[in-house]
Amino acid sequence: MRILIVDDEPAVHDSYAFCFSGGRGVSTETRHALDTMAADLFGRSPGVAALDEGGDLPFDFEPSHCHQGIEAVAAVEQAMADGRPFAVAFIDIRMPPGIDGRETARRIRALDPDIHLVMVTGYSDFSPVEIGRVAGPADKIFYIAKPFEFAEISQMALALCRRWQNDRELTATRALLAAKVATLEEKSAELEANESRAMHIALHDALTDAPNRTAFLRALTERGRQAGHFATAMLDLDRFKLVNDTLGHLAGDELIREVCTMIQHSVPPGTMVARLGGDEFGLFFDTRDEAAAVAVCERVVAACATSFNILGHAVRCGASCGLVLSDSHADRDPTDLVRRADLALNDAKRSGRGVVRVFDTHMDDGIRIRREIEAGLAQAIARDELSLSFQPIVGRGALDVVGFEALVRWNTAAHGMVSPAIFIPIAEESHLIHDLGDWVLDHALAELRHWPGQYVSVNFSPIQFRRSHFVGHIMASVKRAGVDPGRVQIEITETAIFDDAERASKTLGELRGLGFRIALDDFGTGYSSLYNIRKFALDCLKIDRSFIDGMGRERESAAIVHSIIHLGRALGMGVVAEGVETEAQAQALRVAGASHLQGFLFSRPVPAEEARALAAQHWLPFAGVGDTGVIIEGVRS
Ligand code: C2E
Ligand code: CA
Ligand code: CA
Repeated sequence: MRILIVDDEPAVHDSYAFCFSGGRGVSTETRHALDTMAADLFGRSPGVAALDEGGDLPFDFEPSHCHQGIEAVAAVEQAMADGRPFAVAFIDIRMPPGIDGRETARRIRALDPDIHLVMVTGYSDFSPVEIGRVAGPADKIFYIAKPFEFAEISQMALALCRRWQNDRELTATRALLAAKVATLEEKSAELEANESRAMHIALHDALTDAPNRTAFLRALTERGRQAGHFATAMLDLDRFKLVNDTLGHLAGDELIREVCTMIQHSVPPGTMVARLGGDEFGLFFDTRDEAAAVAVCERVVAACATSFNILGHAVRCGASCGLVLSDSHADRDPTDLVRRADLALNDAKRSGRGVVRVFDTHMDDGIRIRREIEAGLAQAIARDELSLSFQPIVGRGALDVVGFEALVRWNTAAHGMVSPAIFIPIAEESHLIHDLGDWVLDHALAELRHWPGQYVSVNFSPIQFRRSHFVGHIMASVKRAGVDPGRVQIEITETAIFDDAERASKTLGELRGLGFRIALDDFGTGYSSLYNIRKFALDCLKIDRSFIDGMGRERESAAIVHSIIHLGRALGMGVVAEGVETEAQAQALRVAGASHLQGFLFSRPVPAEEARALAAQHWLPFAGVGDTGVIIEGVRS
């Protein structure tokens, strides 16, 4: 601990030197007196009393001796520059011929704000107030009268050194604290920034920076709580997949961005435009009435139906839009609004693209009925609501009934008769098709035993066909029913076989090997090349009804019918024309060479008892055949 002593009398320096020599020669009594005094002054034991006789002071005092004020000021300046400041300076007031103690104190204070100054004087040349004014603050200036006691000096030095050290530690702690506070403030600002960035990311779409689905639903909820009419719209790009597939994902992304900007520019002020995902956008805006809302959406759709320059390619896209209005206090649930706008959008897409559709309750009914059907179908078998109808398949000439197609019927308590064209796809989606298919097969096989020799033609969905152990499964049913596989025709569609041609080919081969007949149903509507069907073990092709229907009107249909018949004959297969409704069609098909006919002209699908009767008869009691002798002969016989 550094101490500065400034006095012009060499003898005084000796006294100081003795004081800082470690307390040797100080009586125990004096030491105790010093201790008590320090305790009174500073509220704690300074530790002098703890010193044993001849022991060390708690500080290692390092006195510097100066004989003139100027010299002392220089010493302080040096100490400050070295970073080793003095803790205390003992300054004599009178030091002729140089500057006096007051001036010395003033200059020292100017250099070092922390040093404790002890003015040592025999005269009261200056009042403490005067000195305090030039060398303050007052709590850092002390006075000792000459002649002083050694103990007085050492006690003073000790106490002031302690205080000086405490002050320094306090200052350092304060600085540290201030730094910590600054860092904390910085961190909290950073956190705040991070939080708002995270919020932004959570509520915005990364590609377009438009609000995302979450933000859209939140804002829509908020809007729903307020009064006034508003419209919610779903917008979906037409042919977006094509852009993605042909030009790549980068182009797709670019198109989405461009379209988003285009939508934002074509909506009225205050409209929320959100990207909900993929190529789907959601909007909502205040509106006067339906006509005004439709006008807004039509403007947006028109704006999207333009050519965008995407990575150097001119891309035409276009959009479809579904719209729902909220004009009452009911119907403001955001999820429901989005759902209904979506239904309207689906309707828009179905009815040709680039259109705007307003939600209508019948769109909702479709979905509801679909769900009801799905639920009802699961119980239909148990409730005995299913039945089979049988439609005769007749030979082309004599109208002999060679077989019957089994067609499932569902008479529901809630909706009356439901067409298989409606419930079969639902059964396929929900996998009820397996139970349903098993029921149909078992009942068809049971009925077959009442017919003299005809075959039964059973429809199988592609999902059933792809089931593992399909062959074993059918075989087991046939065995159980005690039926010859040669009297069972399996009707499958092109989709069933061309998805996995190799496996299908194997399955068909096995079935054929067991004696089953195989018919390719709805032929011509799929995508299979006519040439490819050679590879499959088939017994006959069933020409789709749509071609028979179009035969009289369109040249293409007639040409397709002709080529299918030729192909079938060339490959040694039978060709069944289904959906024959008029005599003209029947006539044309006979001429073209179809081997079998099926359709309302001959018979609608009939209940099992009627089918039994027809089967027993072998020929249809068909009168309206006209002048084809063969048929009339057949009917007559
Ligand atoms: P599909 O296999 O093409 O069956 C022929 C459909 O055409 C039947 O309709 C039949 O009633 C109808 N039809 C027959 N002749 C004529 C005609 O001259 N004119 C017109 N306009 N239609 C005629 P249905 O019974 O409504 O069956 C529709 C479809 O449902 C069937 O088409 C078949 O794909 C499916 N289906 C029916 N029963 C079953 C089944 O048990 N299992 C499976 N998987 N699907 C079945
Ligand atoms: Ca069929
Ligand atoms: Ca068919």
